[in-house]
Amino acid sequence: MDLHYTSTRNSDVKVTASQAILKGLAPDGGLFVPVKLPSLDVSLDKLKDMAYQETAYAVMKQFLTDFTEEELKECISKAYDSKFDTEEIAPLVKVGNIYYLELFHGATIAFKDMALSILPHLLTTSARKNKVENEIVILTATSGDTGKAAMAGFADVEGTKIIVFYPKNGVSRVQELQMVTQKGSNVDVVAIHGNFDEAQNGVKAMFEDSKLAEELADKGYQFSSANSINIGRLVPQIVYYVYAYAKLLKYEEIKEGEQINVVVPTGNFGNILAAYYAKQMGVPIDMLVCASNENKVLFDFFKSGTYDRNREFVLTNSPSMDILISSNLERLIYLAAGEDAEKTRELMEELKKDGHYTVTSGMEEKLSDFAAGYTDEDKTKESIRRVYKRTGYVMDTHTAVACHVCEEYMKESNDAKKCVIASTASPYKFVHSVMDALEGIKEETDELELLPRLEEASGIEMPQAVKDILDAEILHHTECDADKMKETVKQILGLQA
Ligand SMILES: *Cc1c(COP(=O)(O)O)cnc(C)c1O
Repeated sequence: MDLHYTSTRNSDVKVTASQAILKGLAPDGGLFVPVKLPSLDVSLDKLKDMAYQETAYAVMKQFLTDFTEEELKECISKAYDSKFDTEEIAPLVKVGNIYYLELFHGATIAFKDMALSILPHLLTTSARKNKVENEIVILTATSGDTGKAAMAGFADVEGTKIIVFYPKNGVSRVQELQMVTQKGSNVDVVAIHGNFDEAQNGVKAMFEDSKLAEELADKGYQFSSANSINIGRLVPQIVYYVYAYAKLLKYEEIKEGEQINVVVPTGNFGNILAAYYAKQMGVPIDMLVCASNENKVLFDFFKSGTYDRNREFVLTNSPSMDILISSNLERLIYLAAGEDAEKTRELMEELKKDGHYTVTSGMEEKLSDFAAGYTDEDKTKESIRRVYKRTGYVMDTHTAVACHVCEEYMKESNDAKKCVIASTASPYKFVHSVMDALEGIKEETDELELLPRLEEASGIEMPQAVKDILDAEILHHTECDADKMKETVKQILGLQA
C-alpha cells in the first residue's frame, strides 16, 4: 500500500509521494508530511556493509512508495556518482572524540548537494509518473548554498527551468561566483536588494499566487520548489544519518544499540529534521542538538516555547544559517501538536500575522528530544582555530558553530554519548572567514587569493569545484528590488516584456 502525504495545515489533503514532490508546497501553504513515519525494514547490522547508494535505496523506498524499484534506483545512481569526490559520498571523520559527518564532497562543496543532486531526477520521474506535460519551473530563494547546488542539479535537465534569488550582500564571494558563472540554457539567477527572508517570502508569495499560476499554465509552465521544504529534499537527507550510524557500528566505534547524539548547524531546520526522522525510523539517536549562530531564534524557541521572529536580522560569518523563519520547523510543530493540522495552521497564521507564536506545554514536552545552543562570531572563529591547533583539522564556519555548541552541550549536560556533527561545508567555501580564524586577515583581502593559503594550512587539495570558478566567465547579471521578484520572473519566462 502506498504511503500518502498530507498537509501540515489541512488533514483533508491526500497525495502520493510523487505528487508531493511535484507540488513542493501544499495548496493551503502547508508542508507535505507522510501520514505515518515509516520504520527501517533492514537491520542496522545489514546496513553496516552497504554502500551509500544501497543505504539510500533502503531508506528512500520507505518514503517514496509509489516509485518503482527501477525508478528509484535510477535516480539514486544518477545522483550519487563521480560528481562526488569520494566513493563514500558522506565520509565520517573522527577528530579527537567527535565524529564529523562530511556532507560537502559533492559538486558545490556543501551539504545541499546531498539532496539537490537527486531532486531533479525525483522531480522529472514524478512528472513522468503523473503525466505532467507542462515545463517545470523551479523557483528558489537561497542564502548561498542552495542556489548553486540547485542550479548545478537542474542545469540542462530536460523539461525544467530554474530561477534562483539570492540576497545581494548576504552571500560569500565564492558563493556568488559559483552562481553567476553557472552554465545551462535553462538557468537564471537574480540578486535581490534585500535579505534571505525577503527572498524566501517573495518566492512563497509567488507559489500562493493563483492568478500567476494561471498565467504560467497558459504558457505551458508550472512552478515547483527546490527549497528544503520539498519532501524530495528532506527524504534524501535522512539517508546519511542512517549511513553514519551504520558506519560507527562497522568501525566498532559503538556497540549495537548504543545511542548517539547528533549536532546540526541549523538554518531552515531541514537537516536536523532529517536526523529526527532517522531517529523515528529506528536509528538509536538520543538527543538532537540544534546549533544556531547569532540569529538564535531556534535556540530561544527550544528554551522558551515561543518562536519570535521580531528581532534584528544579523549578518554573520555562517551566512547559510542567517535565517529568522525556519520553514521546516513547521513539520516538527505538526508532530508536537499530535499531527493536528488545525492547531499547526493556527500557529503558522499567528507567525505570519504577528511574527510569533507559543506552543502549549503539552507540545513542549514532545520536543524533549531536542537541545539547543548558539554561538557568536568570535567563538565560531575560536573553535576553528582551537580544533586546528589541537588536531590539524580545518572546518568551515557553519561546522564550527556546531562544534562549539557540541562542546558546550557535553559540558553542561554531562551527557557522554558519542557525538556526530553534521559538517555542512568545505572550509574552501568560506575561505575568508576560515583564514581569518586561522591567521587573522584584513577585511579587504581578496577571497580568491586566500585559497592557496588555505591549501597550505589545511594540507587538503583545493577541490575541483573551486578550481573551476577561478577562470569561469560571469554569465548572469540580473538584479532587482525585493518587491519586484514577480515582475522579474515574468520577464524571464516571457510572460511580460
Ligand atoms: C543550508 C546550510 C545549513 C543549514 O541547513 P538547514 O537544513 O537549512 O537547517 C548549514 N550549513 C550550511 C553550509 C548550509 O548550506
